[in-house]
Amino acid sequence: MQKARYFRQNPLKSPDGGNRVLLHSCCAPCSCAIIEALHDSGLVPTVFFYNPNIYPQAEYDLRKRENMRYAAKLGIPFVDADYDCGEWQLRTKGLENEPERGKRCTVCFDMRLEGAARYAASHGFTVFATTLGISRWKNMTQVDECGTRAASNHEGLIYWAFNWRKNGMMDRRAALIKSEEFYLQQYCGCVFSLRDSIRRKAMQVPSKS
Ligand code: SF4
Repeated sequence: MQKARYFRQNPLKSPDGGNRVLLHSCCAPCSCAIIEALHDSGLVPTVFFYNPNIYPQAEYDLRKRENMRYAAKLGIPFVDADYDCGEWQLRTKGLENEPERGKRCTVCFDMRLEGAARYAASHGFTVFATTLGISRWKNMTQVDECGTRAASNHEGLIYWAFNWRKNGMMDRRAALIKSEEFYLQQYCGCVFSLRDSIRRKAMQVPSKS
């Protein structure tokens, strides 16, 4: 039997008490349950897709299309931001051999959340959040520090640090991935995570999703 949707009974409240939230999204599998939770709470999310880390472009286009498909299904606005991969490569130069959760990921989160903060501040949002922390492969503290840093450059802008892994969200995420038949990537996104995923597979270590 399908479980009741938690946030219908326990609606989220935005930290500014308003209803508009800019949601930086990395992909459909990570954002689907969060978008639904915001929607179920009576909040009005706008999905902001800004992920210049994703390699190659065909993978970027596929992840974006999947995310757009779900936003359109729920009638939620979707902002297709730049694929500024040249700037991402410049910023991560010298960090190619960092492990996941290391310094390269901080630079990567900083760039994406700075982009979200800039868009939020220039389009009348006072709150923004990100889907990056829902994956158990990510360091939530690292993500939240980057979000807070990005918000600090814009007066009055709040980064909503929320633990999206609780309240049945991981089960709901898995259920939506299945029911929506989302494409489920096997690596985080950048060329270096693709390289590491291929190495793990070669060593018969279970891959990430
Ligand atoms: S592993 Fe993921 S978070 Fe880290 S730099 Fe690559 S794409 Fe960004």
